[in-house]
Amino acid sequence: MTLYIVATPIGNLDDITLRAIETLKQVDLIAAEDTRHSGLLLQHLGIKAKLFALHDHNEQERSALLVEKLLAGESIALISDAGTPLINDPGYHLVKMCRENGIQVVPIPGACAAITALSASGLPSDRFSYEGFLPAKSGARREKLTELAHEPRTLIFYESTHRLLDSINDMQLIFGSEREIVLAKELTKTWETIVSFTIAQLIEWLNEDKNRLKGEFVLIVAGERAKKSEISLDAIKTLQILQKELPLKKAAAITADIYGLKKNQLYQLGLTLDSQSN
Ligand code: SAM
Repeated sequence: MTLYIVATPIGNLDDITLRAIETLKQVDLIAAEDTRHSGLLLQHLGIKAKLFALHDHNEQERSALLVEKLLAGESIALISDAGTPLINDPGYHLVKMCRENGIQVVPIPGACAAITALSASGLPSDRFSYEGFLPAKSGARREKLTELAHEPRTLIFYESTHRLLDSINDMQLIFGSEREIVLAKELTKTWETIVSFTIAQLIEWLNEDKNRLKGEFVLIVAGERAKKSEISLDAIKTLQILQKELPLKKAAAITADIYGLKKNQLYQLGLTLDSQSN
């Protein structure tokens, strides 16, 4: 009665460990997010196994069934579509339930997009904060980024093709144009690309070629360096409201007065906000 948490490749199918293959061969059952997708990986590895679907939306009830099987003596492996289970993938409830029921949980480590990207980013890797996906809605996303604006540790985000540019534009708004950022795209795959820029340069680079927006992405953002003046979300909102009624120069001057910020910094921000709303 053991649950194995087995990492699978994030692109290149050779990135699976010998121990992962051995474990997947031996277990009675493999719990997977998408049984069709995982079926292809298992077929590639020549493994015939019984698969059991475990998605985010049914994880709690399905986990209870898996715990029953484990308590009855079966051994089970948990895999996700790619990388390490539980890292923005199902498994948290299952592992928690297993530990509460005294079931042994054995991790079989391997690929994880966040760590893979960080290891090649050239940004400080001694302390970092994994943030997963930012909220889909702009308001919530800006709020989250504002919470992180003064975080000194390196920040790691996952992002999808269709929200990549919106998220990076919001990062420019909250973190400023000059913050260092690394975009790691299609890791371990044919079109793997890892580029280092400031946020403003990255936006320019992405806008030069729409193909650059396609694929799977990890964004690594440098933490805040000491003594950098930041613009609060309240100041941004004030500027946005004033900008609707007044010329930008005036709106920037009033906002600067209220929040004790530099006029020119707010003027530049106003131009960015203006171009985003067009
Ligand atoms: N469990 C996975 C892991 O260990 O990295 C993450 C699963 S999460 C649902 C999927 C996201 O991970 C993608 O949207 C992308 O942000 C990131 N990702 C996965 N594979 C990637 C790759 N080959 N290159 C870049 N990012 C990747």
